[in-house]
Amino acid sequence: MIRYDNQQSEELPPFVSVHGGHSGEYCQHARDSLDDIVKAYHNQQFAWVGITEHIPPTSDSFLYPDERSAGLTASAMLERFAQYMAHCRSLQAAYSGKLTIFVGMETEAYQGAVDYAIQLRDRFHPDYIVGSVHHVADIPIDMNPSEYARAISACGGIVDMYAAYFDLQYDMIQKLKPSVVGHFDLIRIFDPDYPSRLKTPAVWERICRNLKAVESLGLMLDLNVRALLKGAREPYLCHPILEKVREMAIPVVPGDDSHSVDTVGRHVADGIRYLQSLGISTAWTIPGIYKY
Ligand SMILES: [Zn+2]
Ligand SMILES: [Zn+2]
Repeated sequence: MIRYDNQQSEELPPFVSVHGGHSGEYCQHARDSLDDIVKAYHNQQFAWVGITEHIPPTSDSFLYPDERSAGLTASAMLERFAQYMAHCRSLQAAYSGKLTIFVGMETEAYQGAVDYAIQLRDRFHPDYIVGSVHHVADIPIDMNPSEYARAISACGGIVDMYAAYFDLQYDMIQKLKPSVVGHFDLIRIFDPDYPSRLKTPAVWERICRNLKAVESLGLMLDLNVRALLKGAREPYLCHPILEKVREMAIPVVPGDDSHSVDTVGRHVADGIRYLQSLGISTAWTIPGIYKY
């Protein structure tokens, strides 16, 4: 079902992205300026977009290797994040009436990160937050297979790593109540046997528990189509979870998770068709906007 398609067309609902707009200006593993990225969303006639840059690390020990080699520190990244928030607000105003922009941020959930995200929320007042988990046992799981393997051994096995991931996600959801939960099942990223893993009772029960929390708090889910760009068979969320989500009528909205101009809008049409094929609503609602 997955084919490269970047075009809006009449039979499709309007393009939106609930999670994206990482830019080379504010993120070490992204490219291009935030201005050019926002311009690309406007050129592709998106109805709305949430720009959701990564939060800075809580301390230097959580710097990624590319950040370290660029000479960054946690405090320099906090300063850069403050510039991002101000820049994004000015773009939101400049595009008023042309493109609806939400000023957001994407979290972490390693040790101390959720409390730090709450501090950042209280200081910078984003329109909404994408709540994501990128570490288990404080080890990054989406960077490469060897770090993934390290996280598995730290947890004592792959099922335990999945369980720990969904437990961290549950705590993050409860404490932070992010309007959007990002790439819900990212933990399967380097696991070719994920369909059987997800069916393991210890994992599936946690997935259902977390979805219940999303439902009862009125949050929405990111259909993260960046996975397709990286050659995955299906986006996050995968098919069995989407079936459960449909049954629970939890809103799912595409997130292109763009990290450059040329990944703006990439695979959004595929994601929309995928939702349509599963009978999931594409009458998008916007994420819950925080009131301060
Ligand atoms: Zn990123
Ligand atoms: Zn992410």
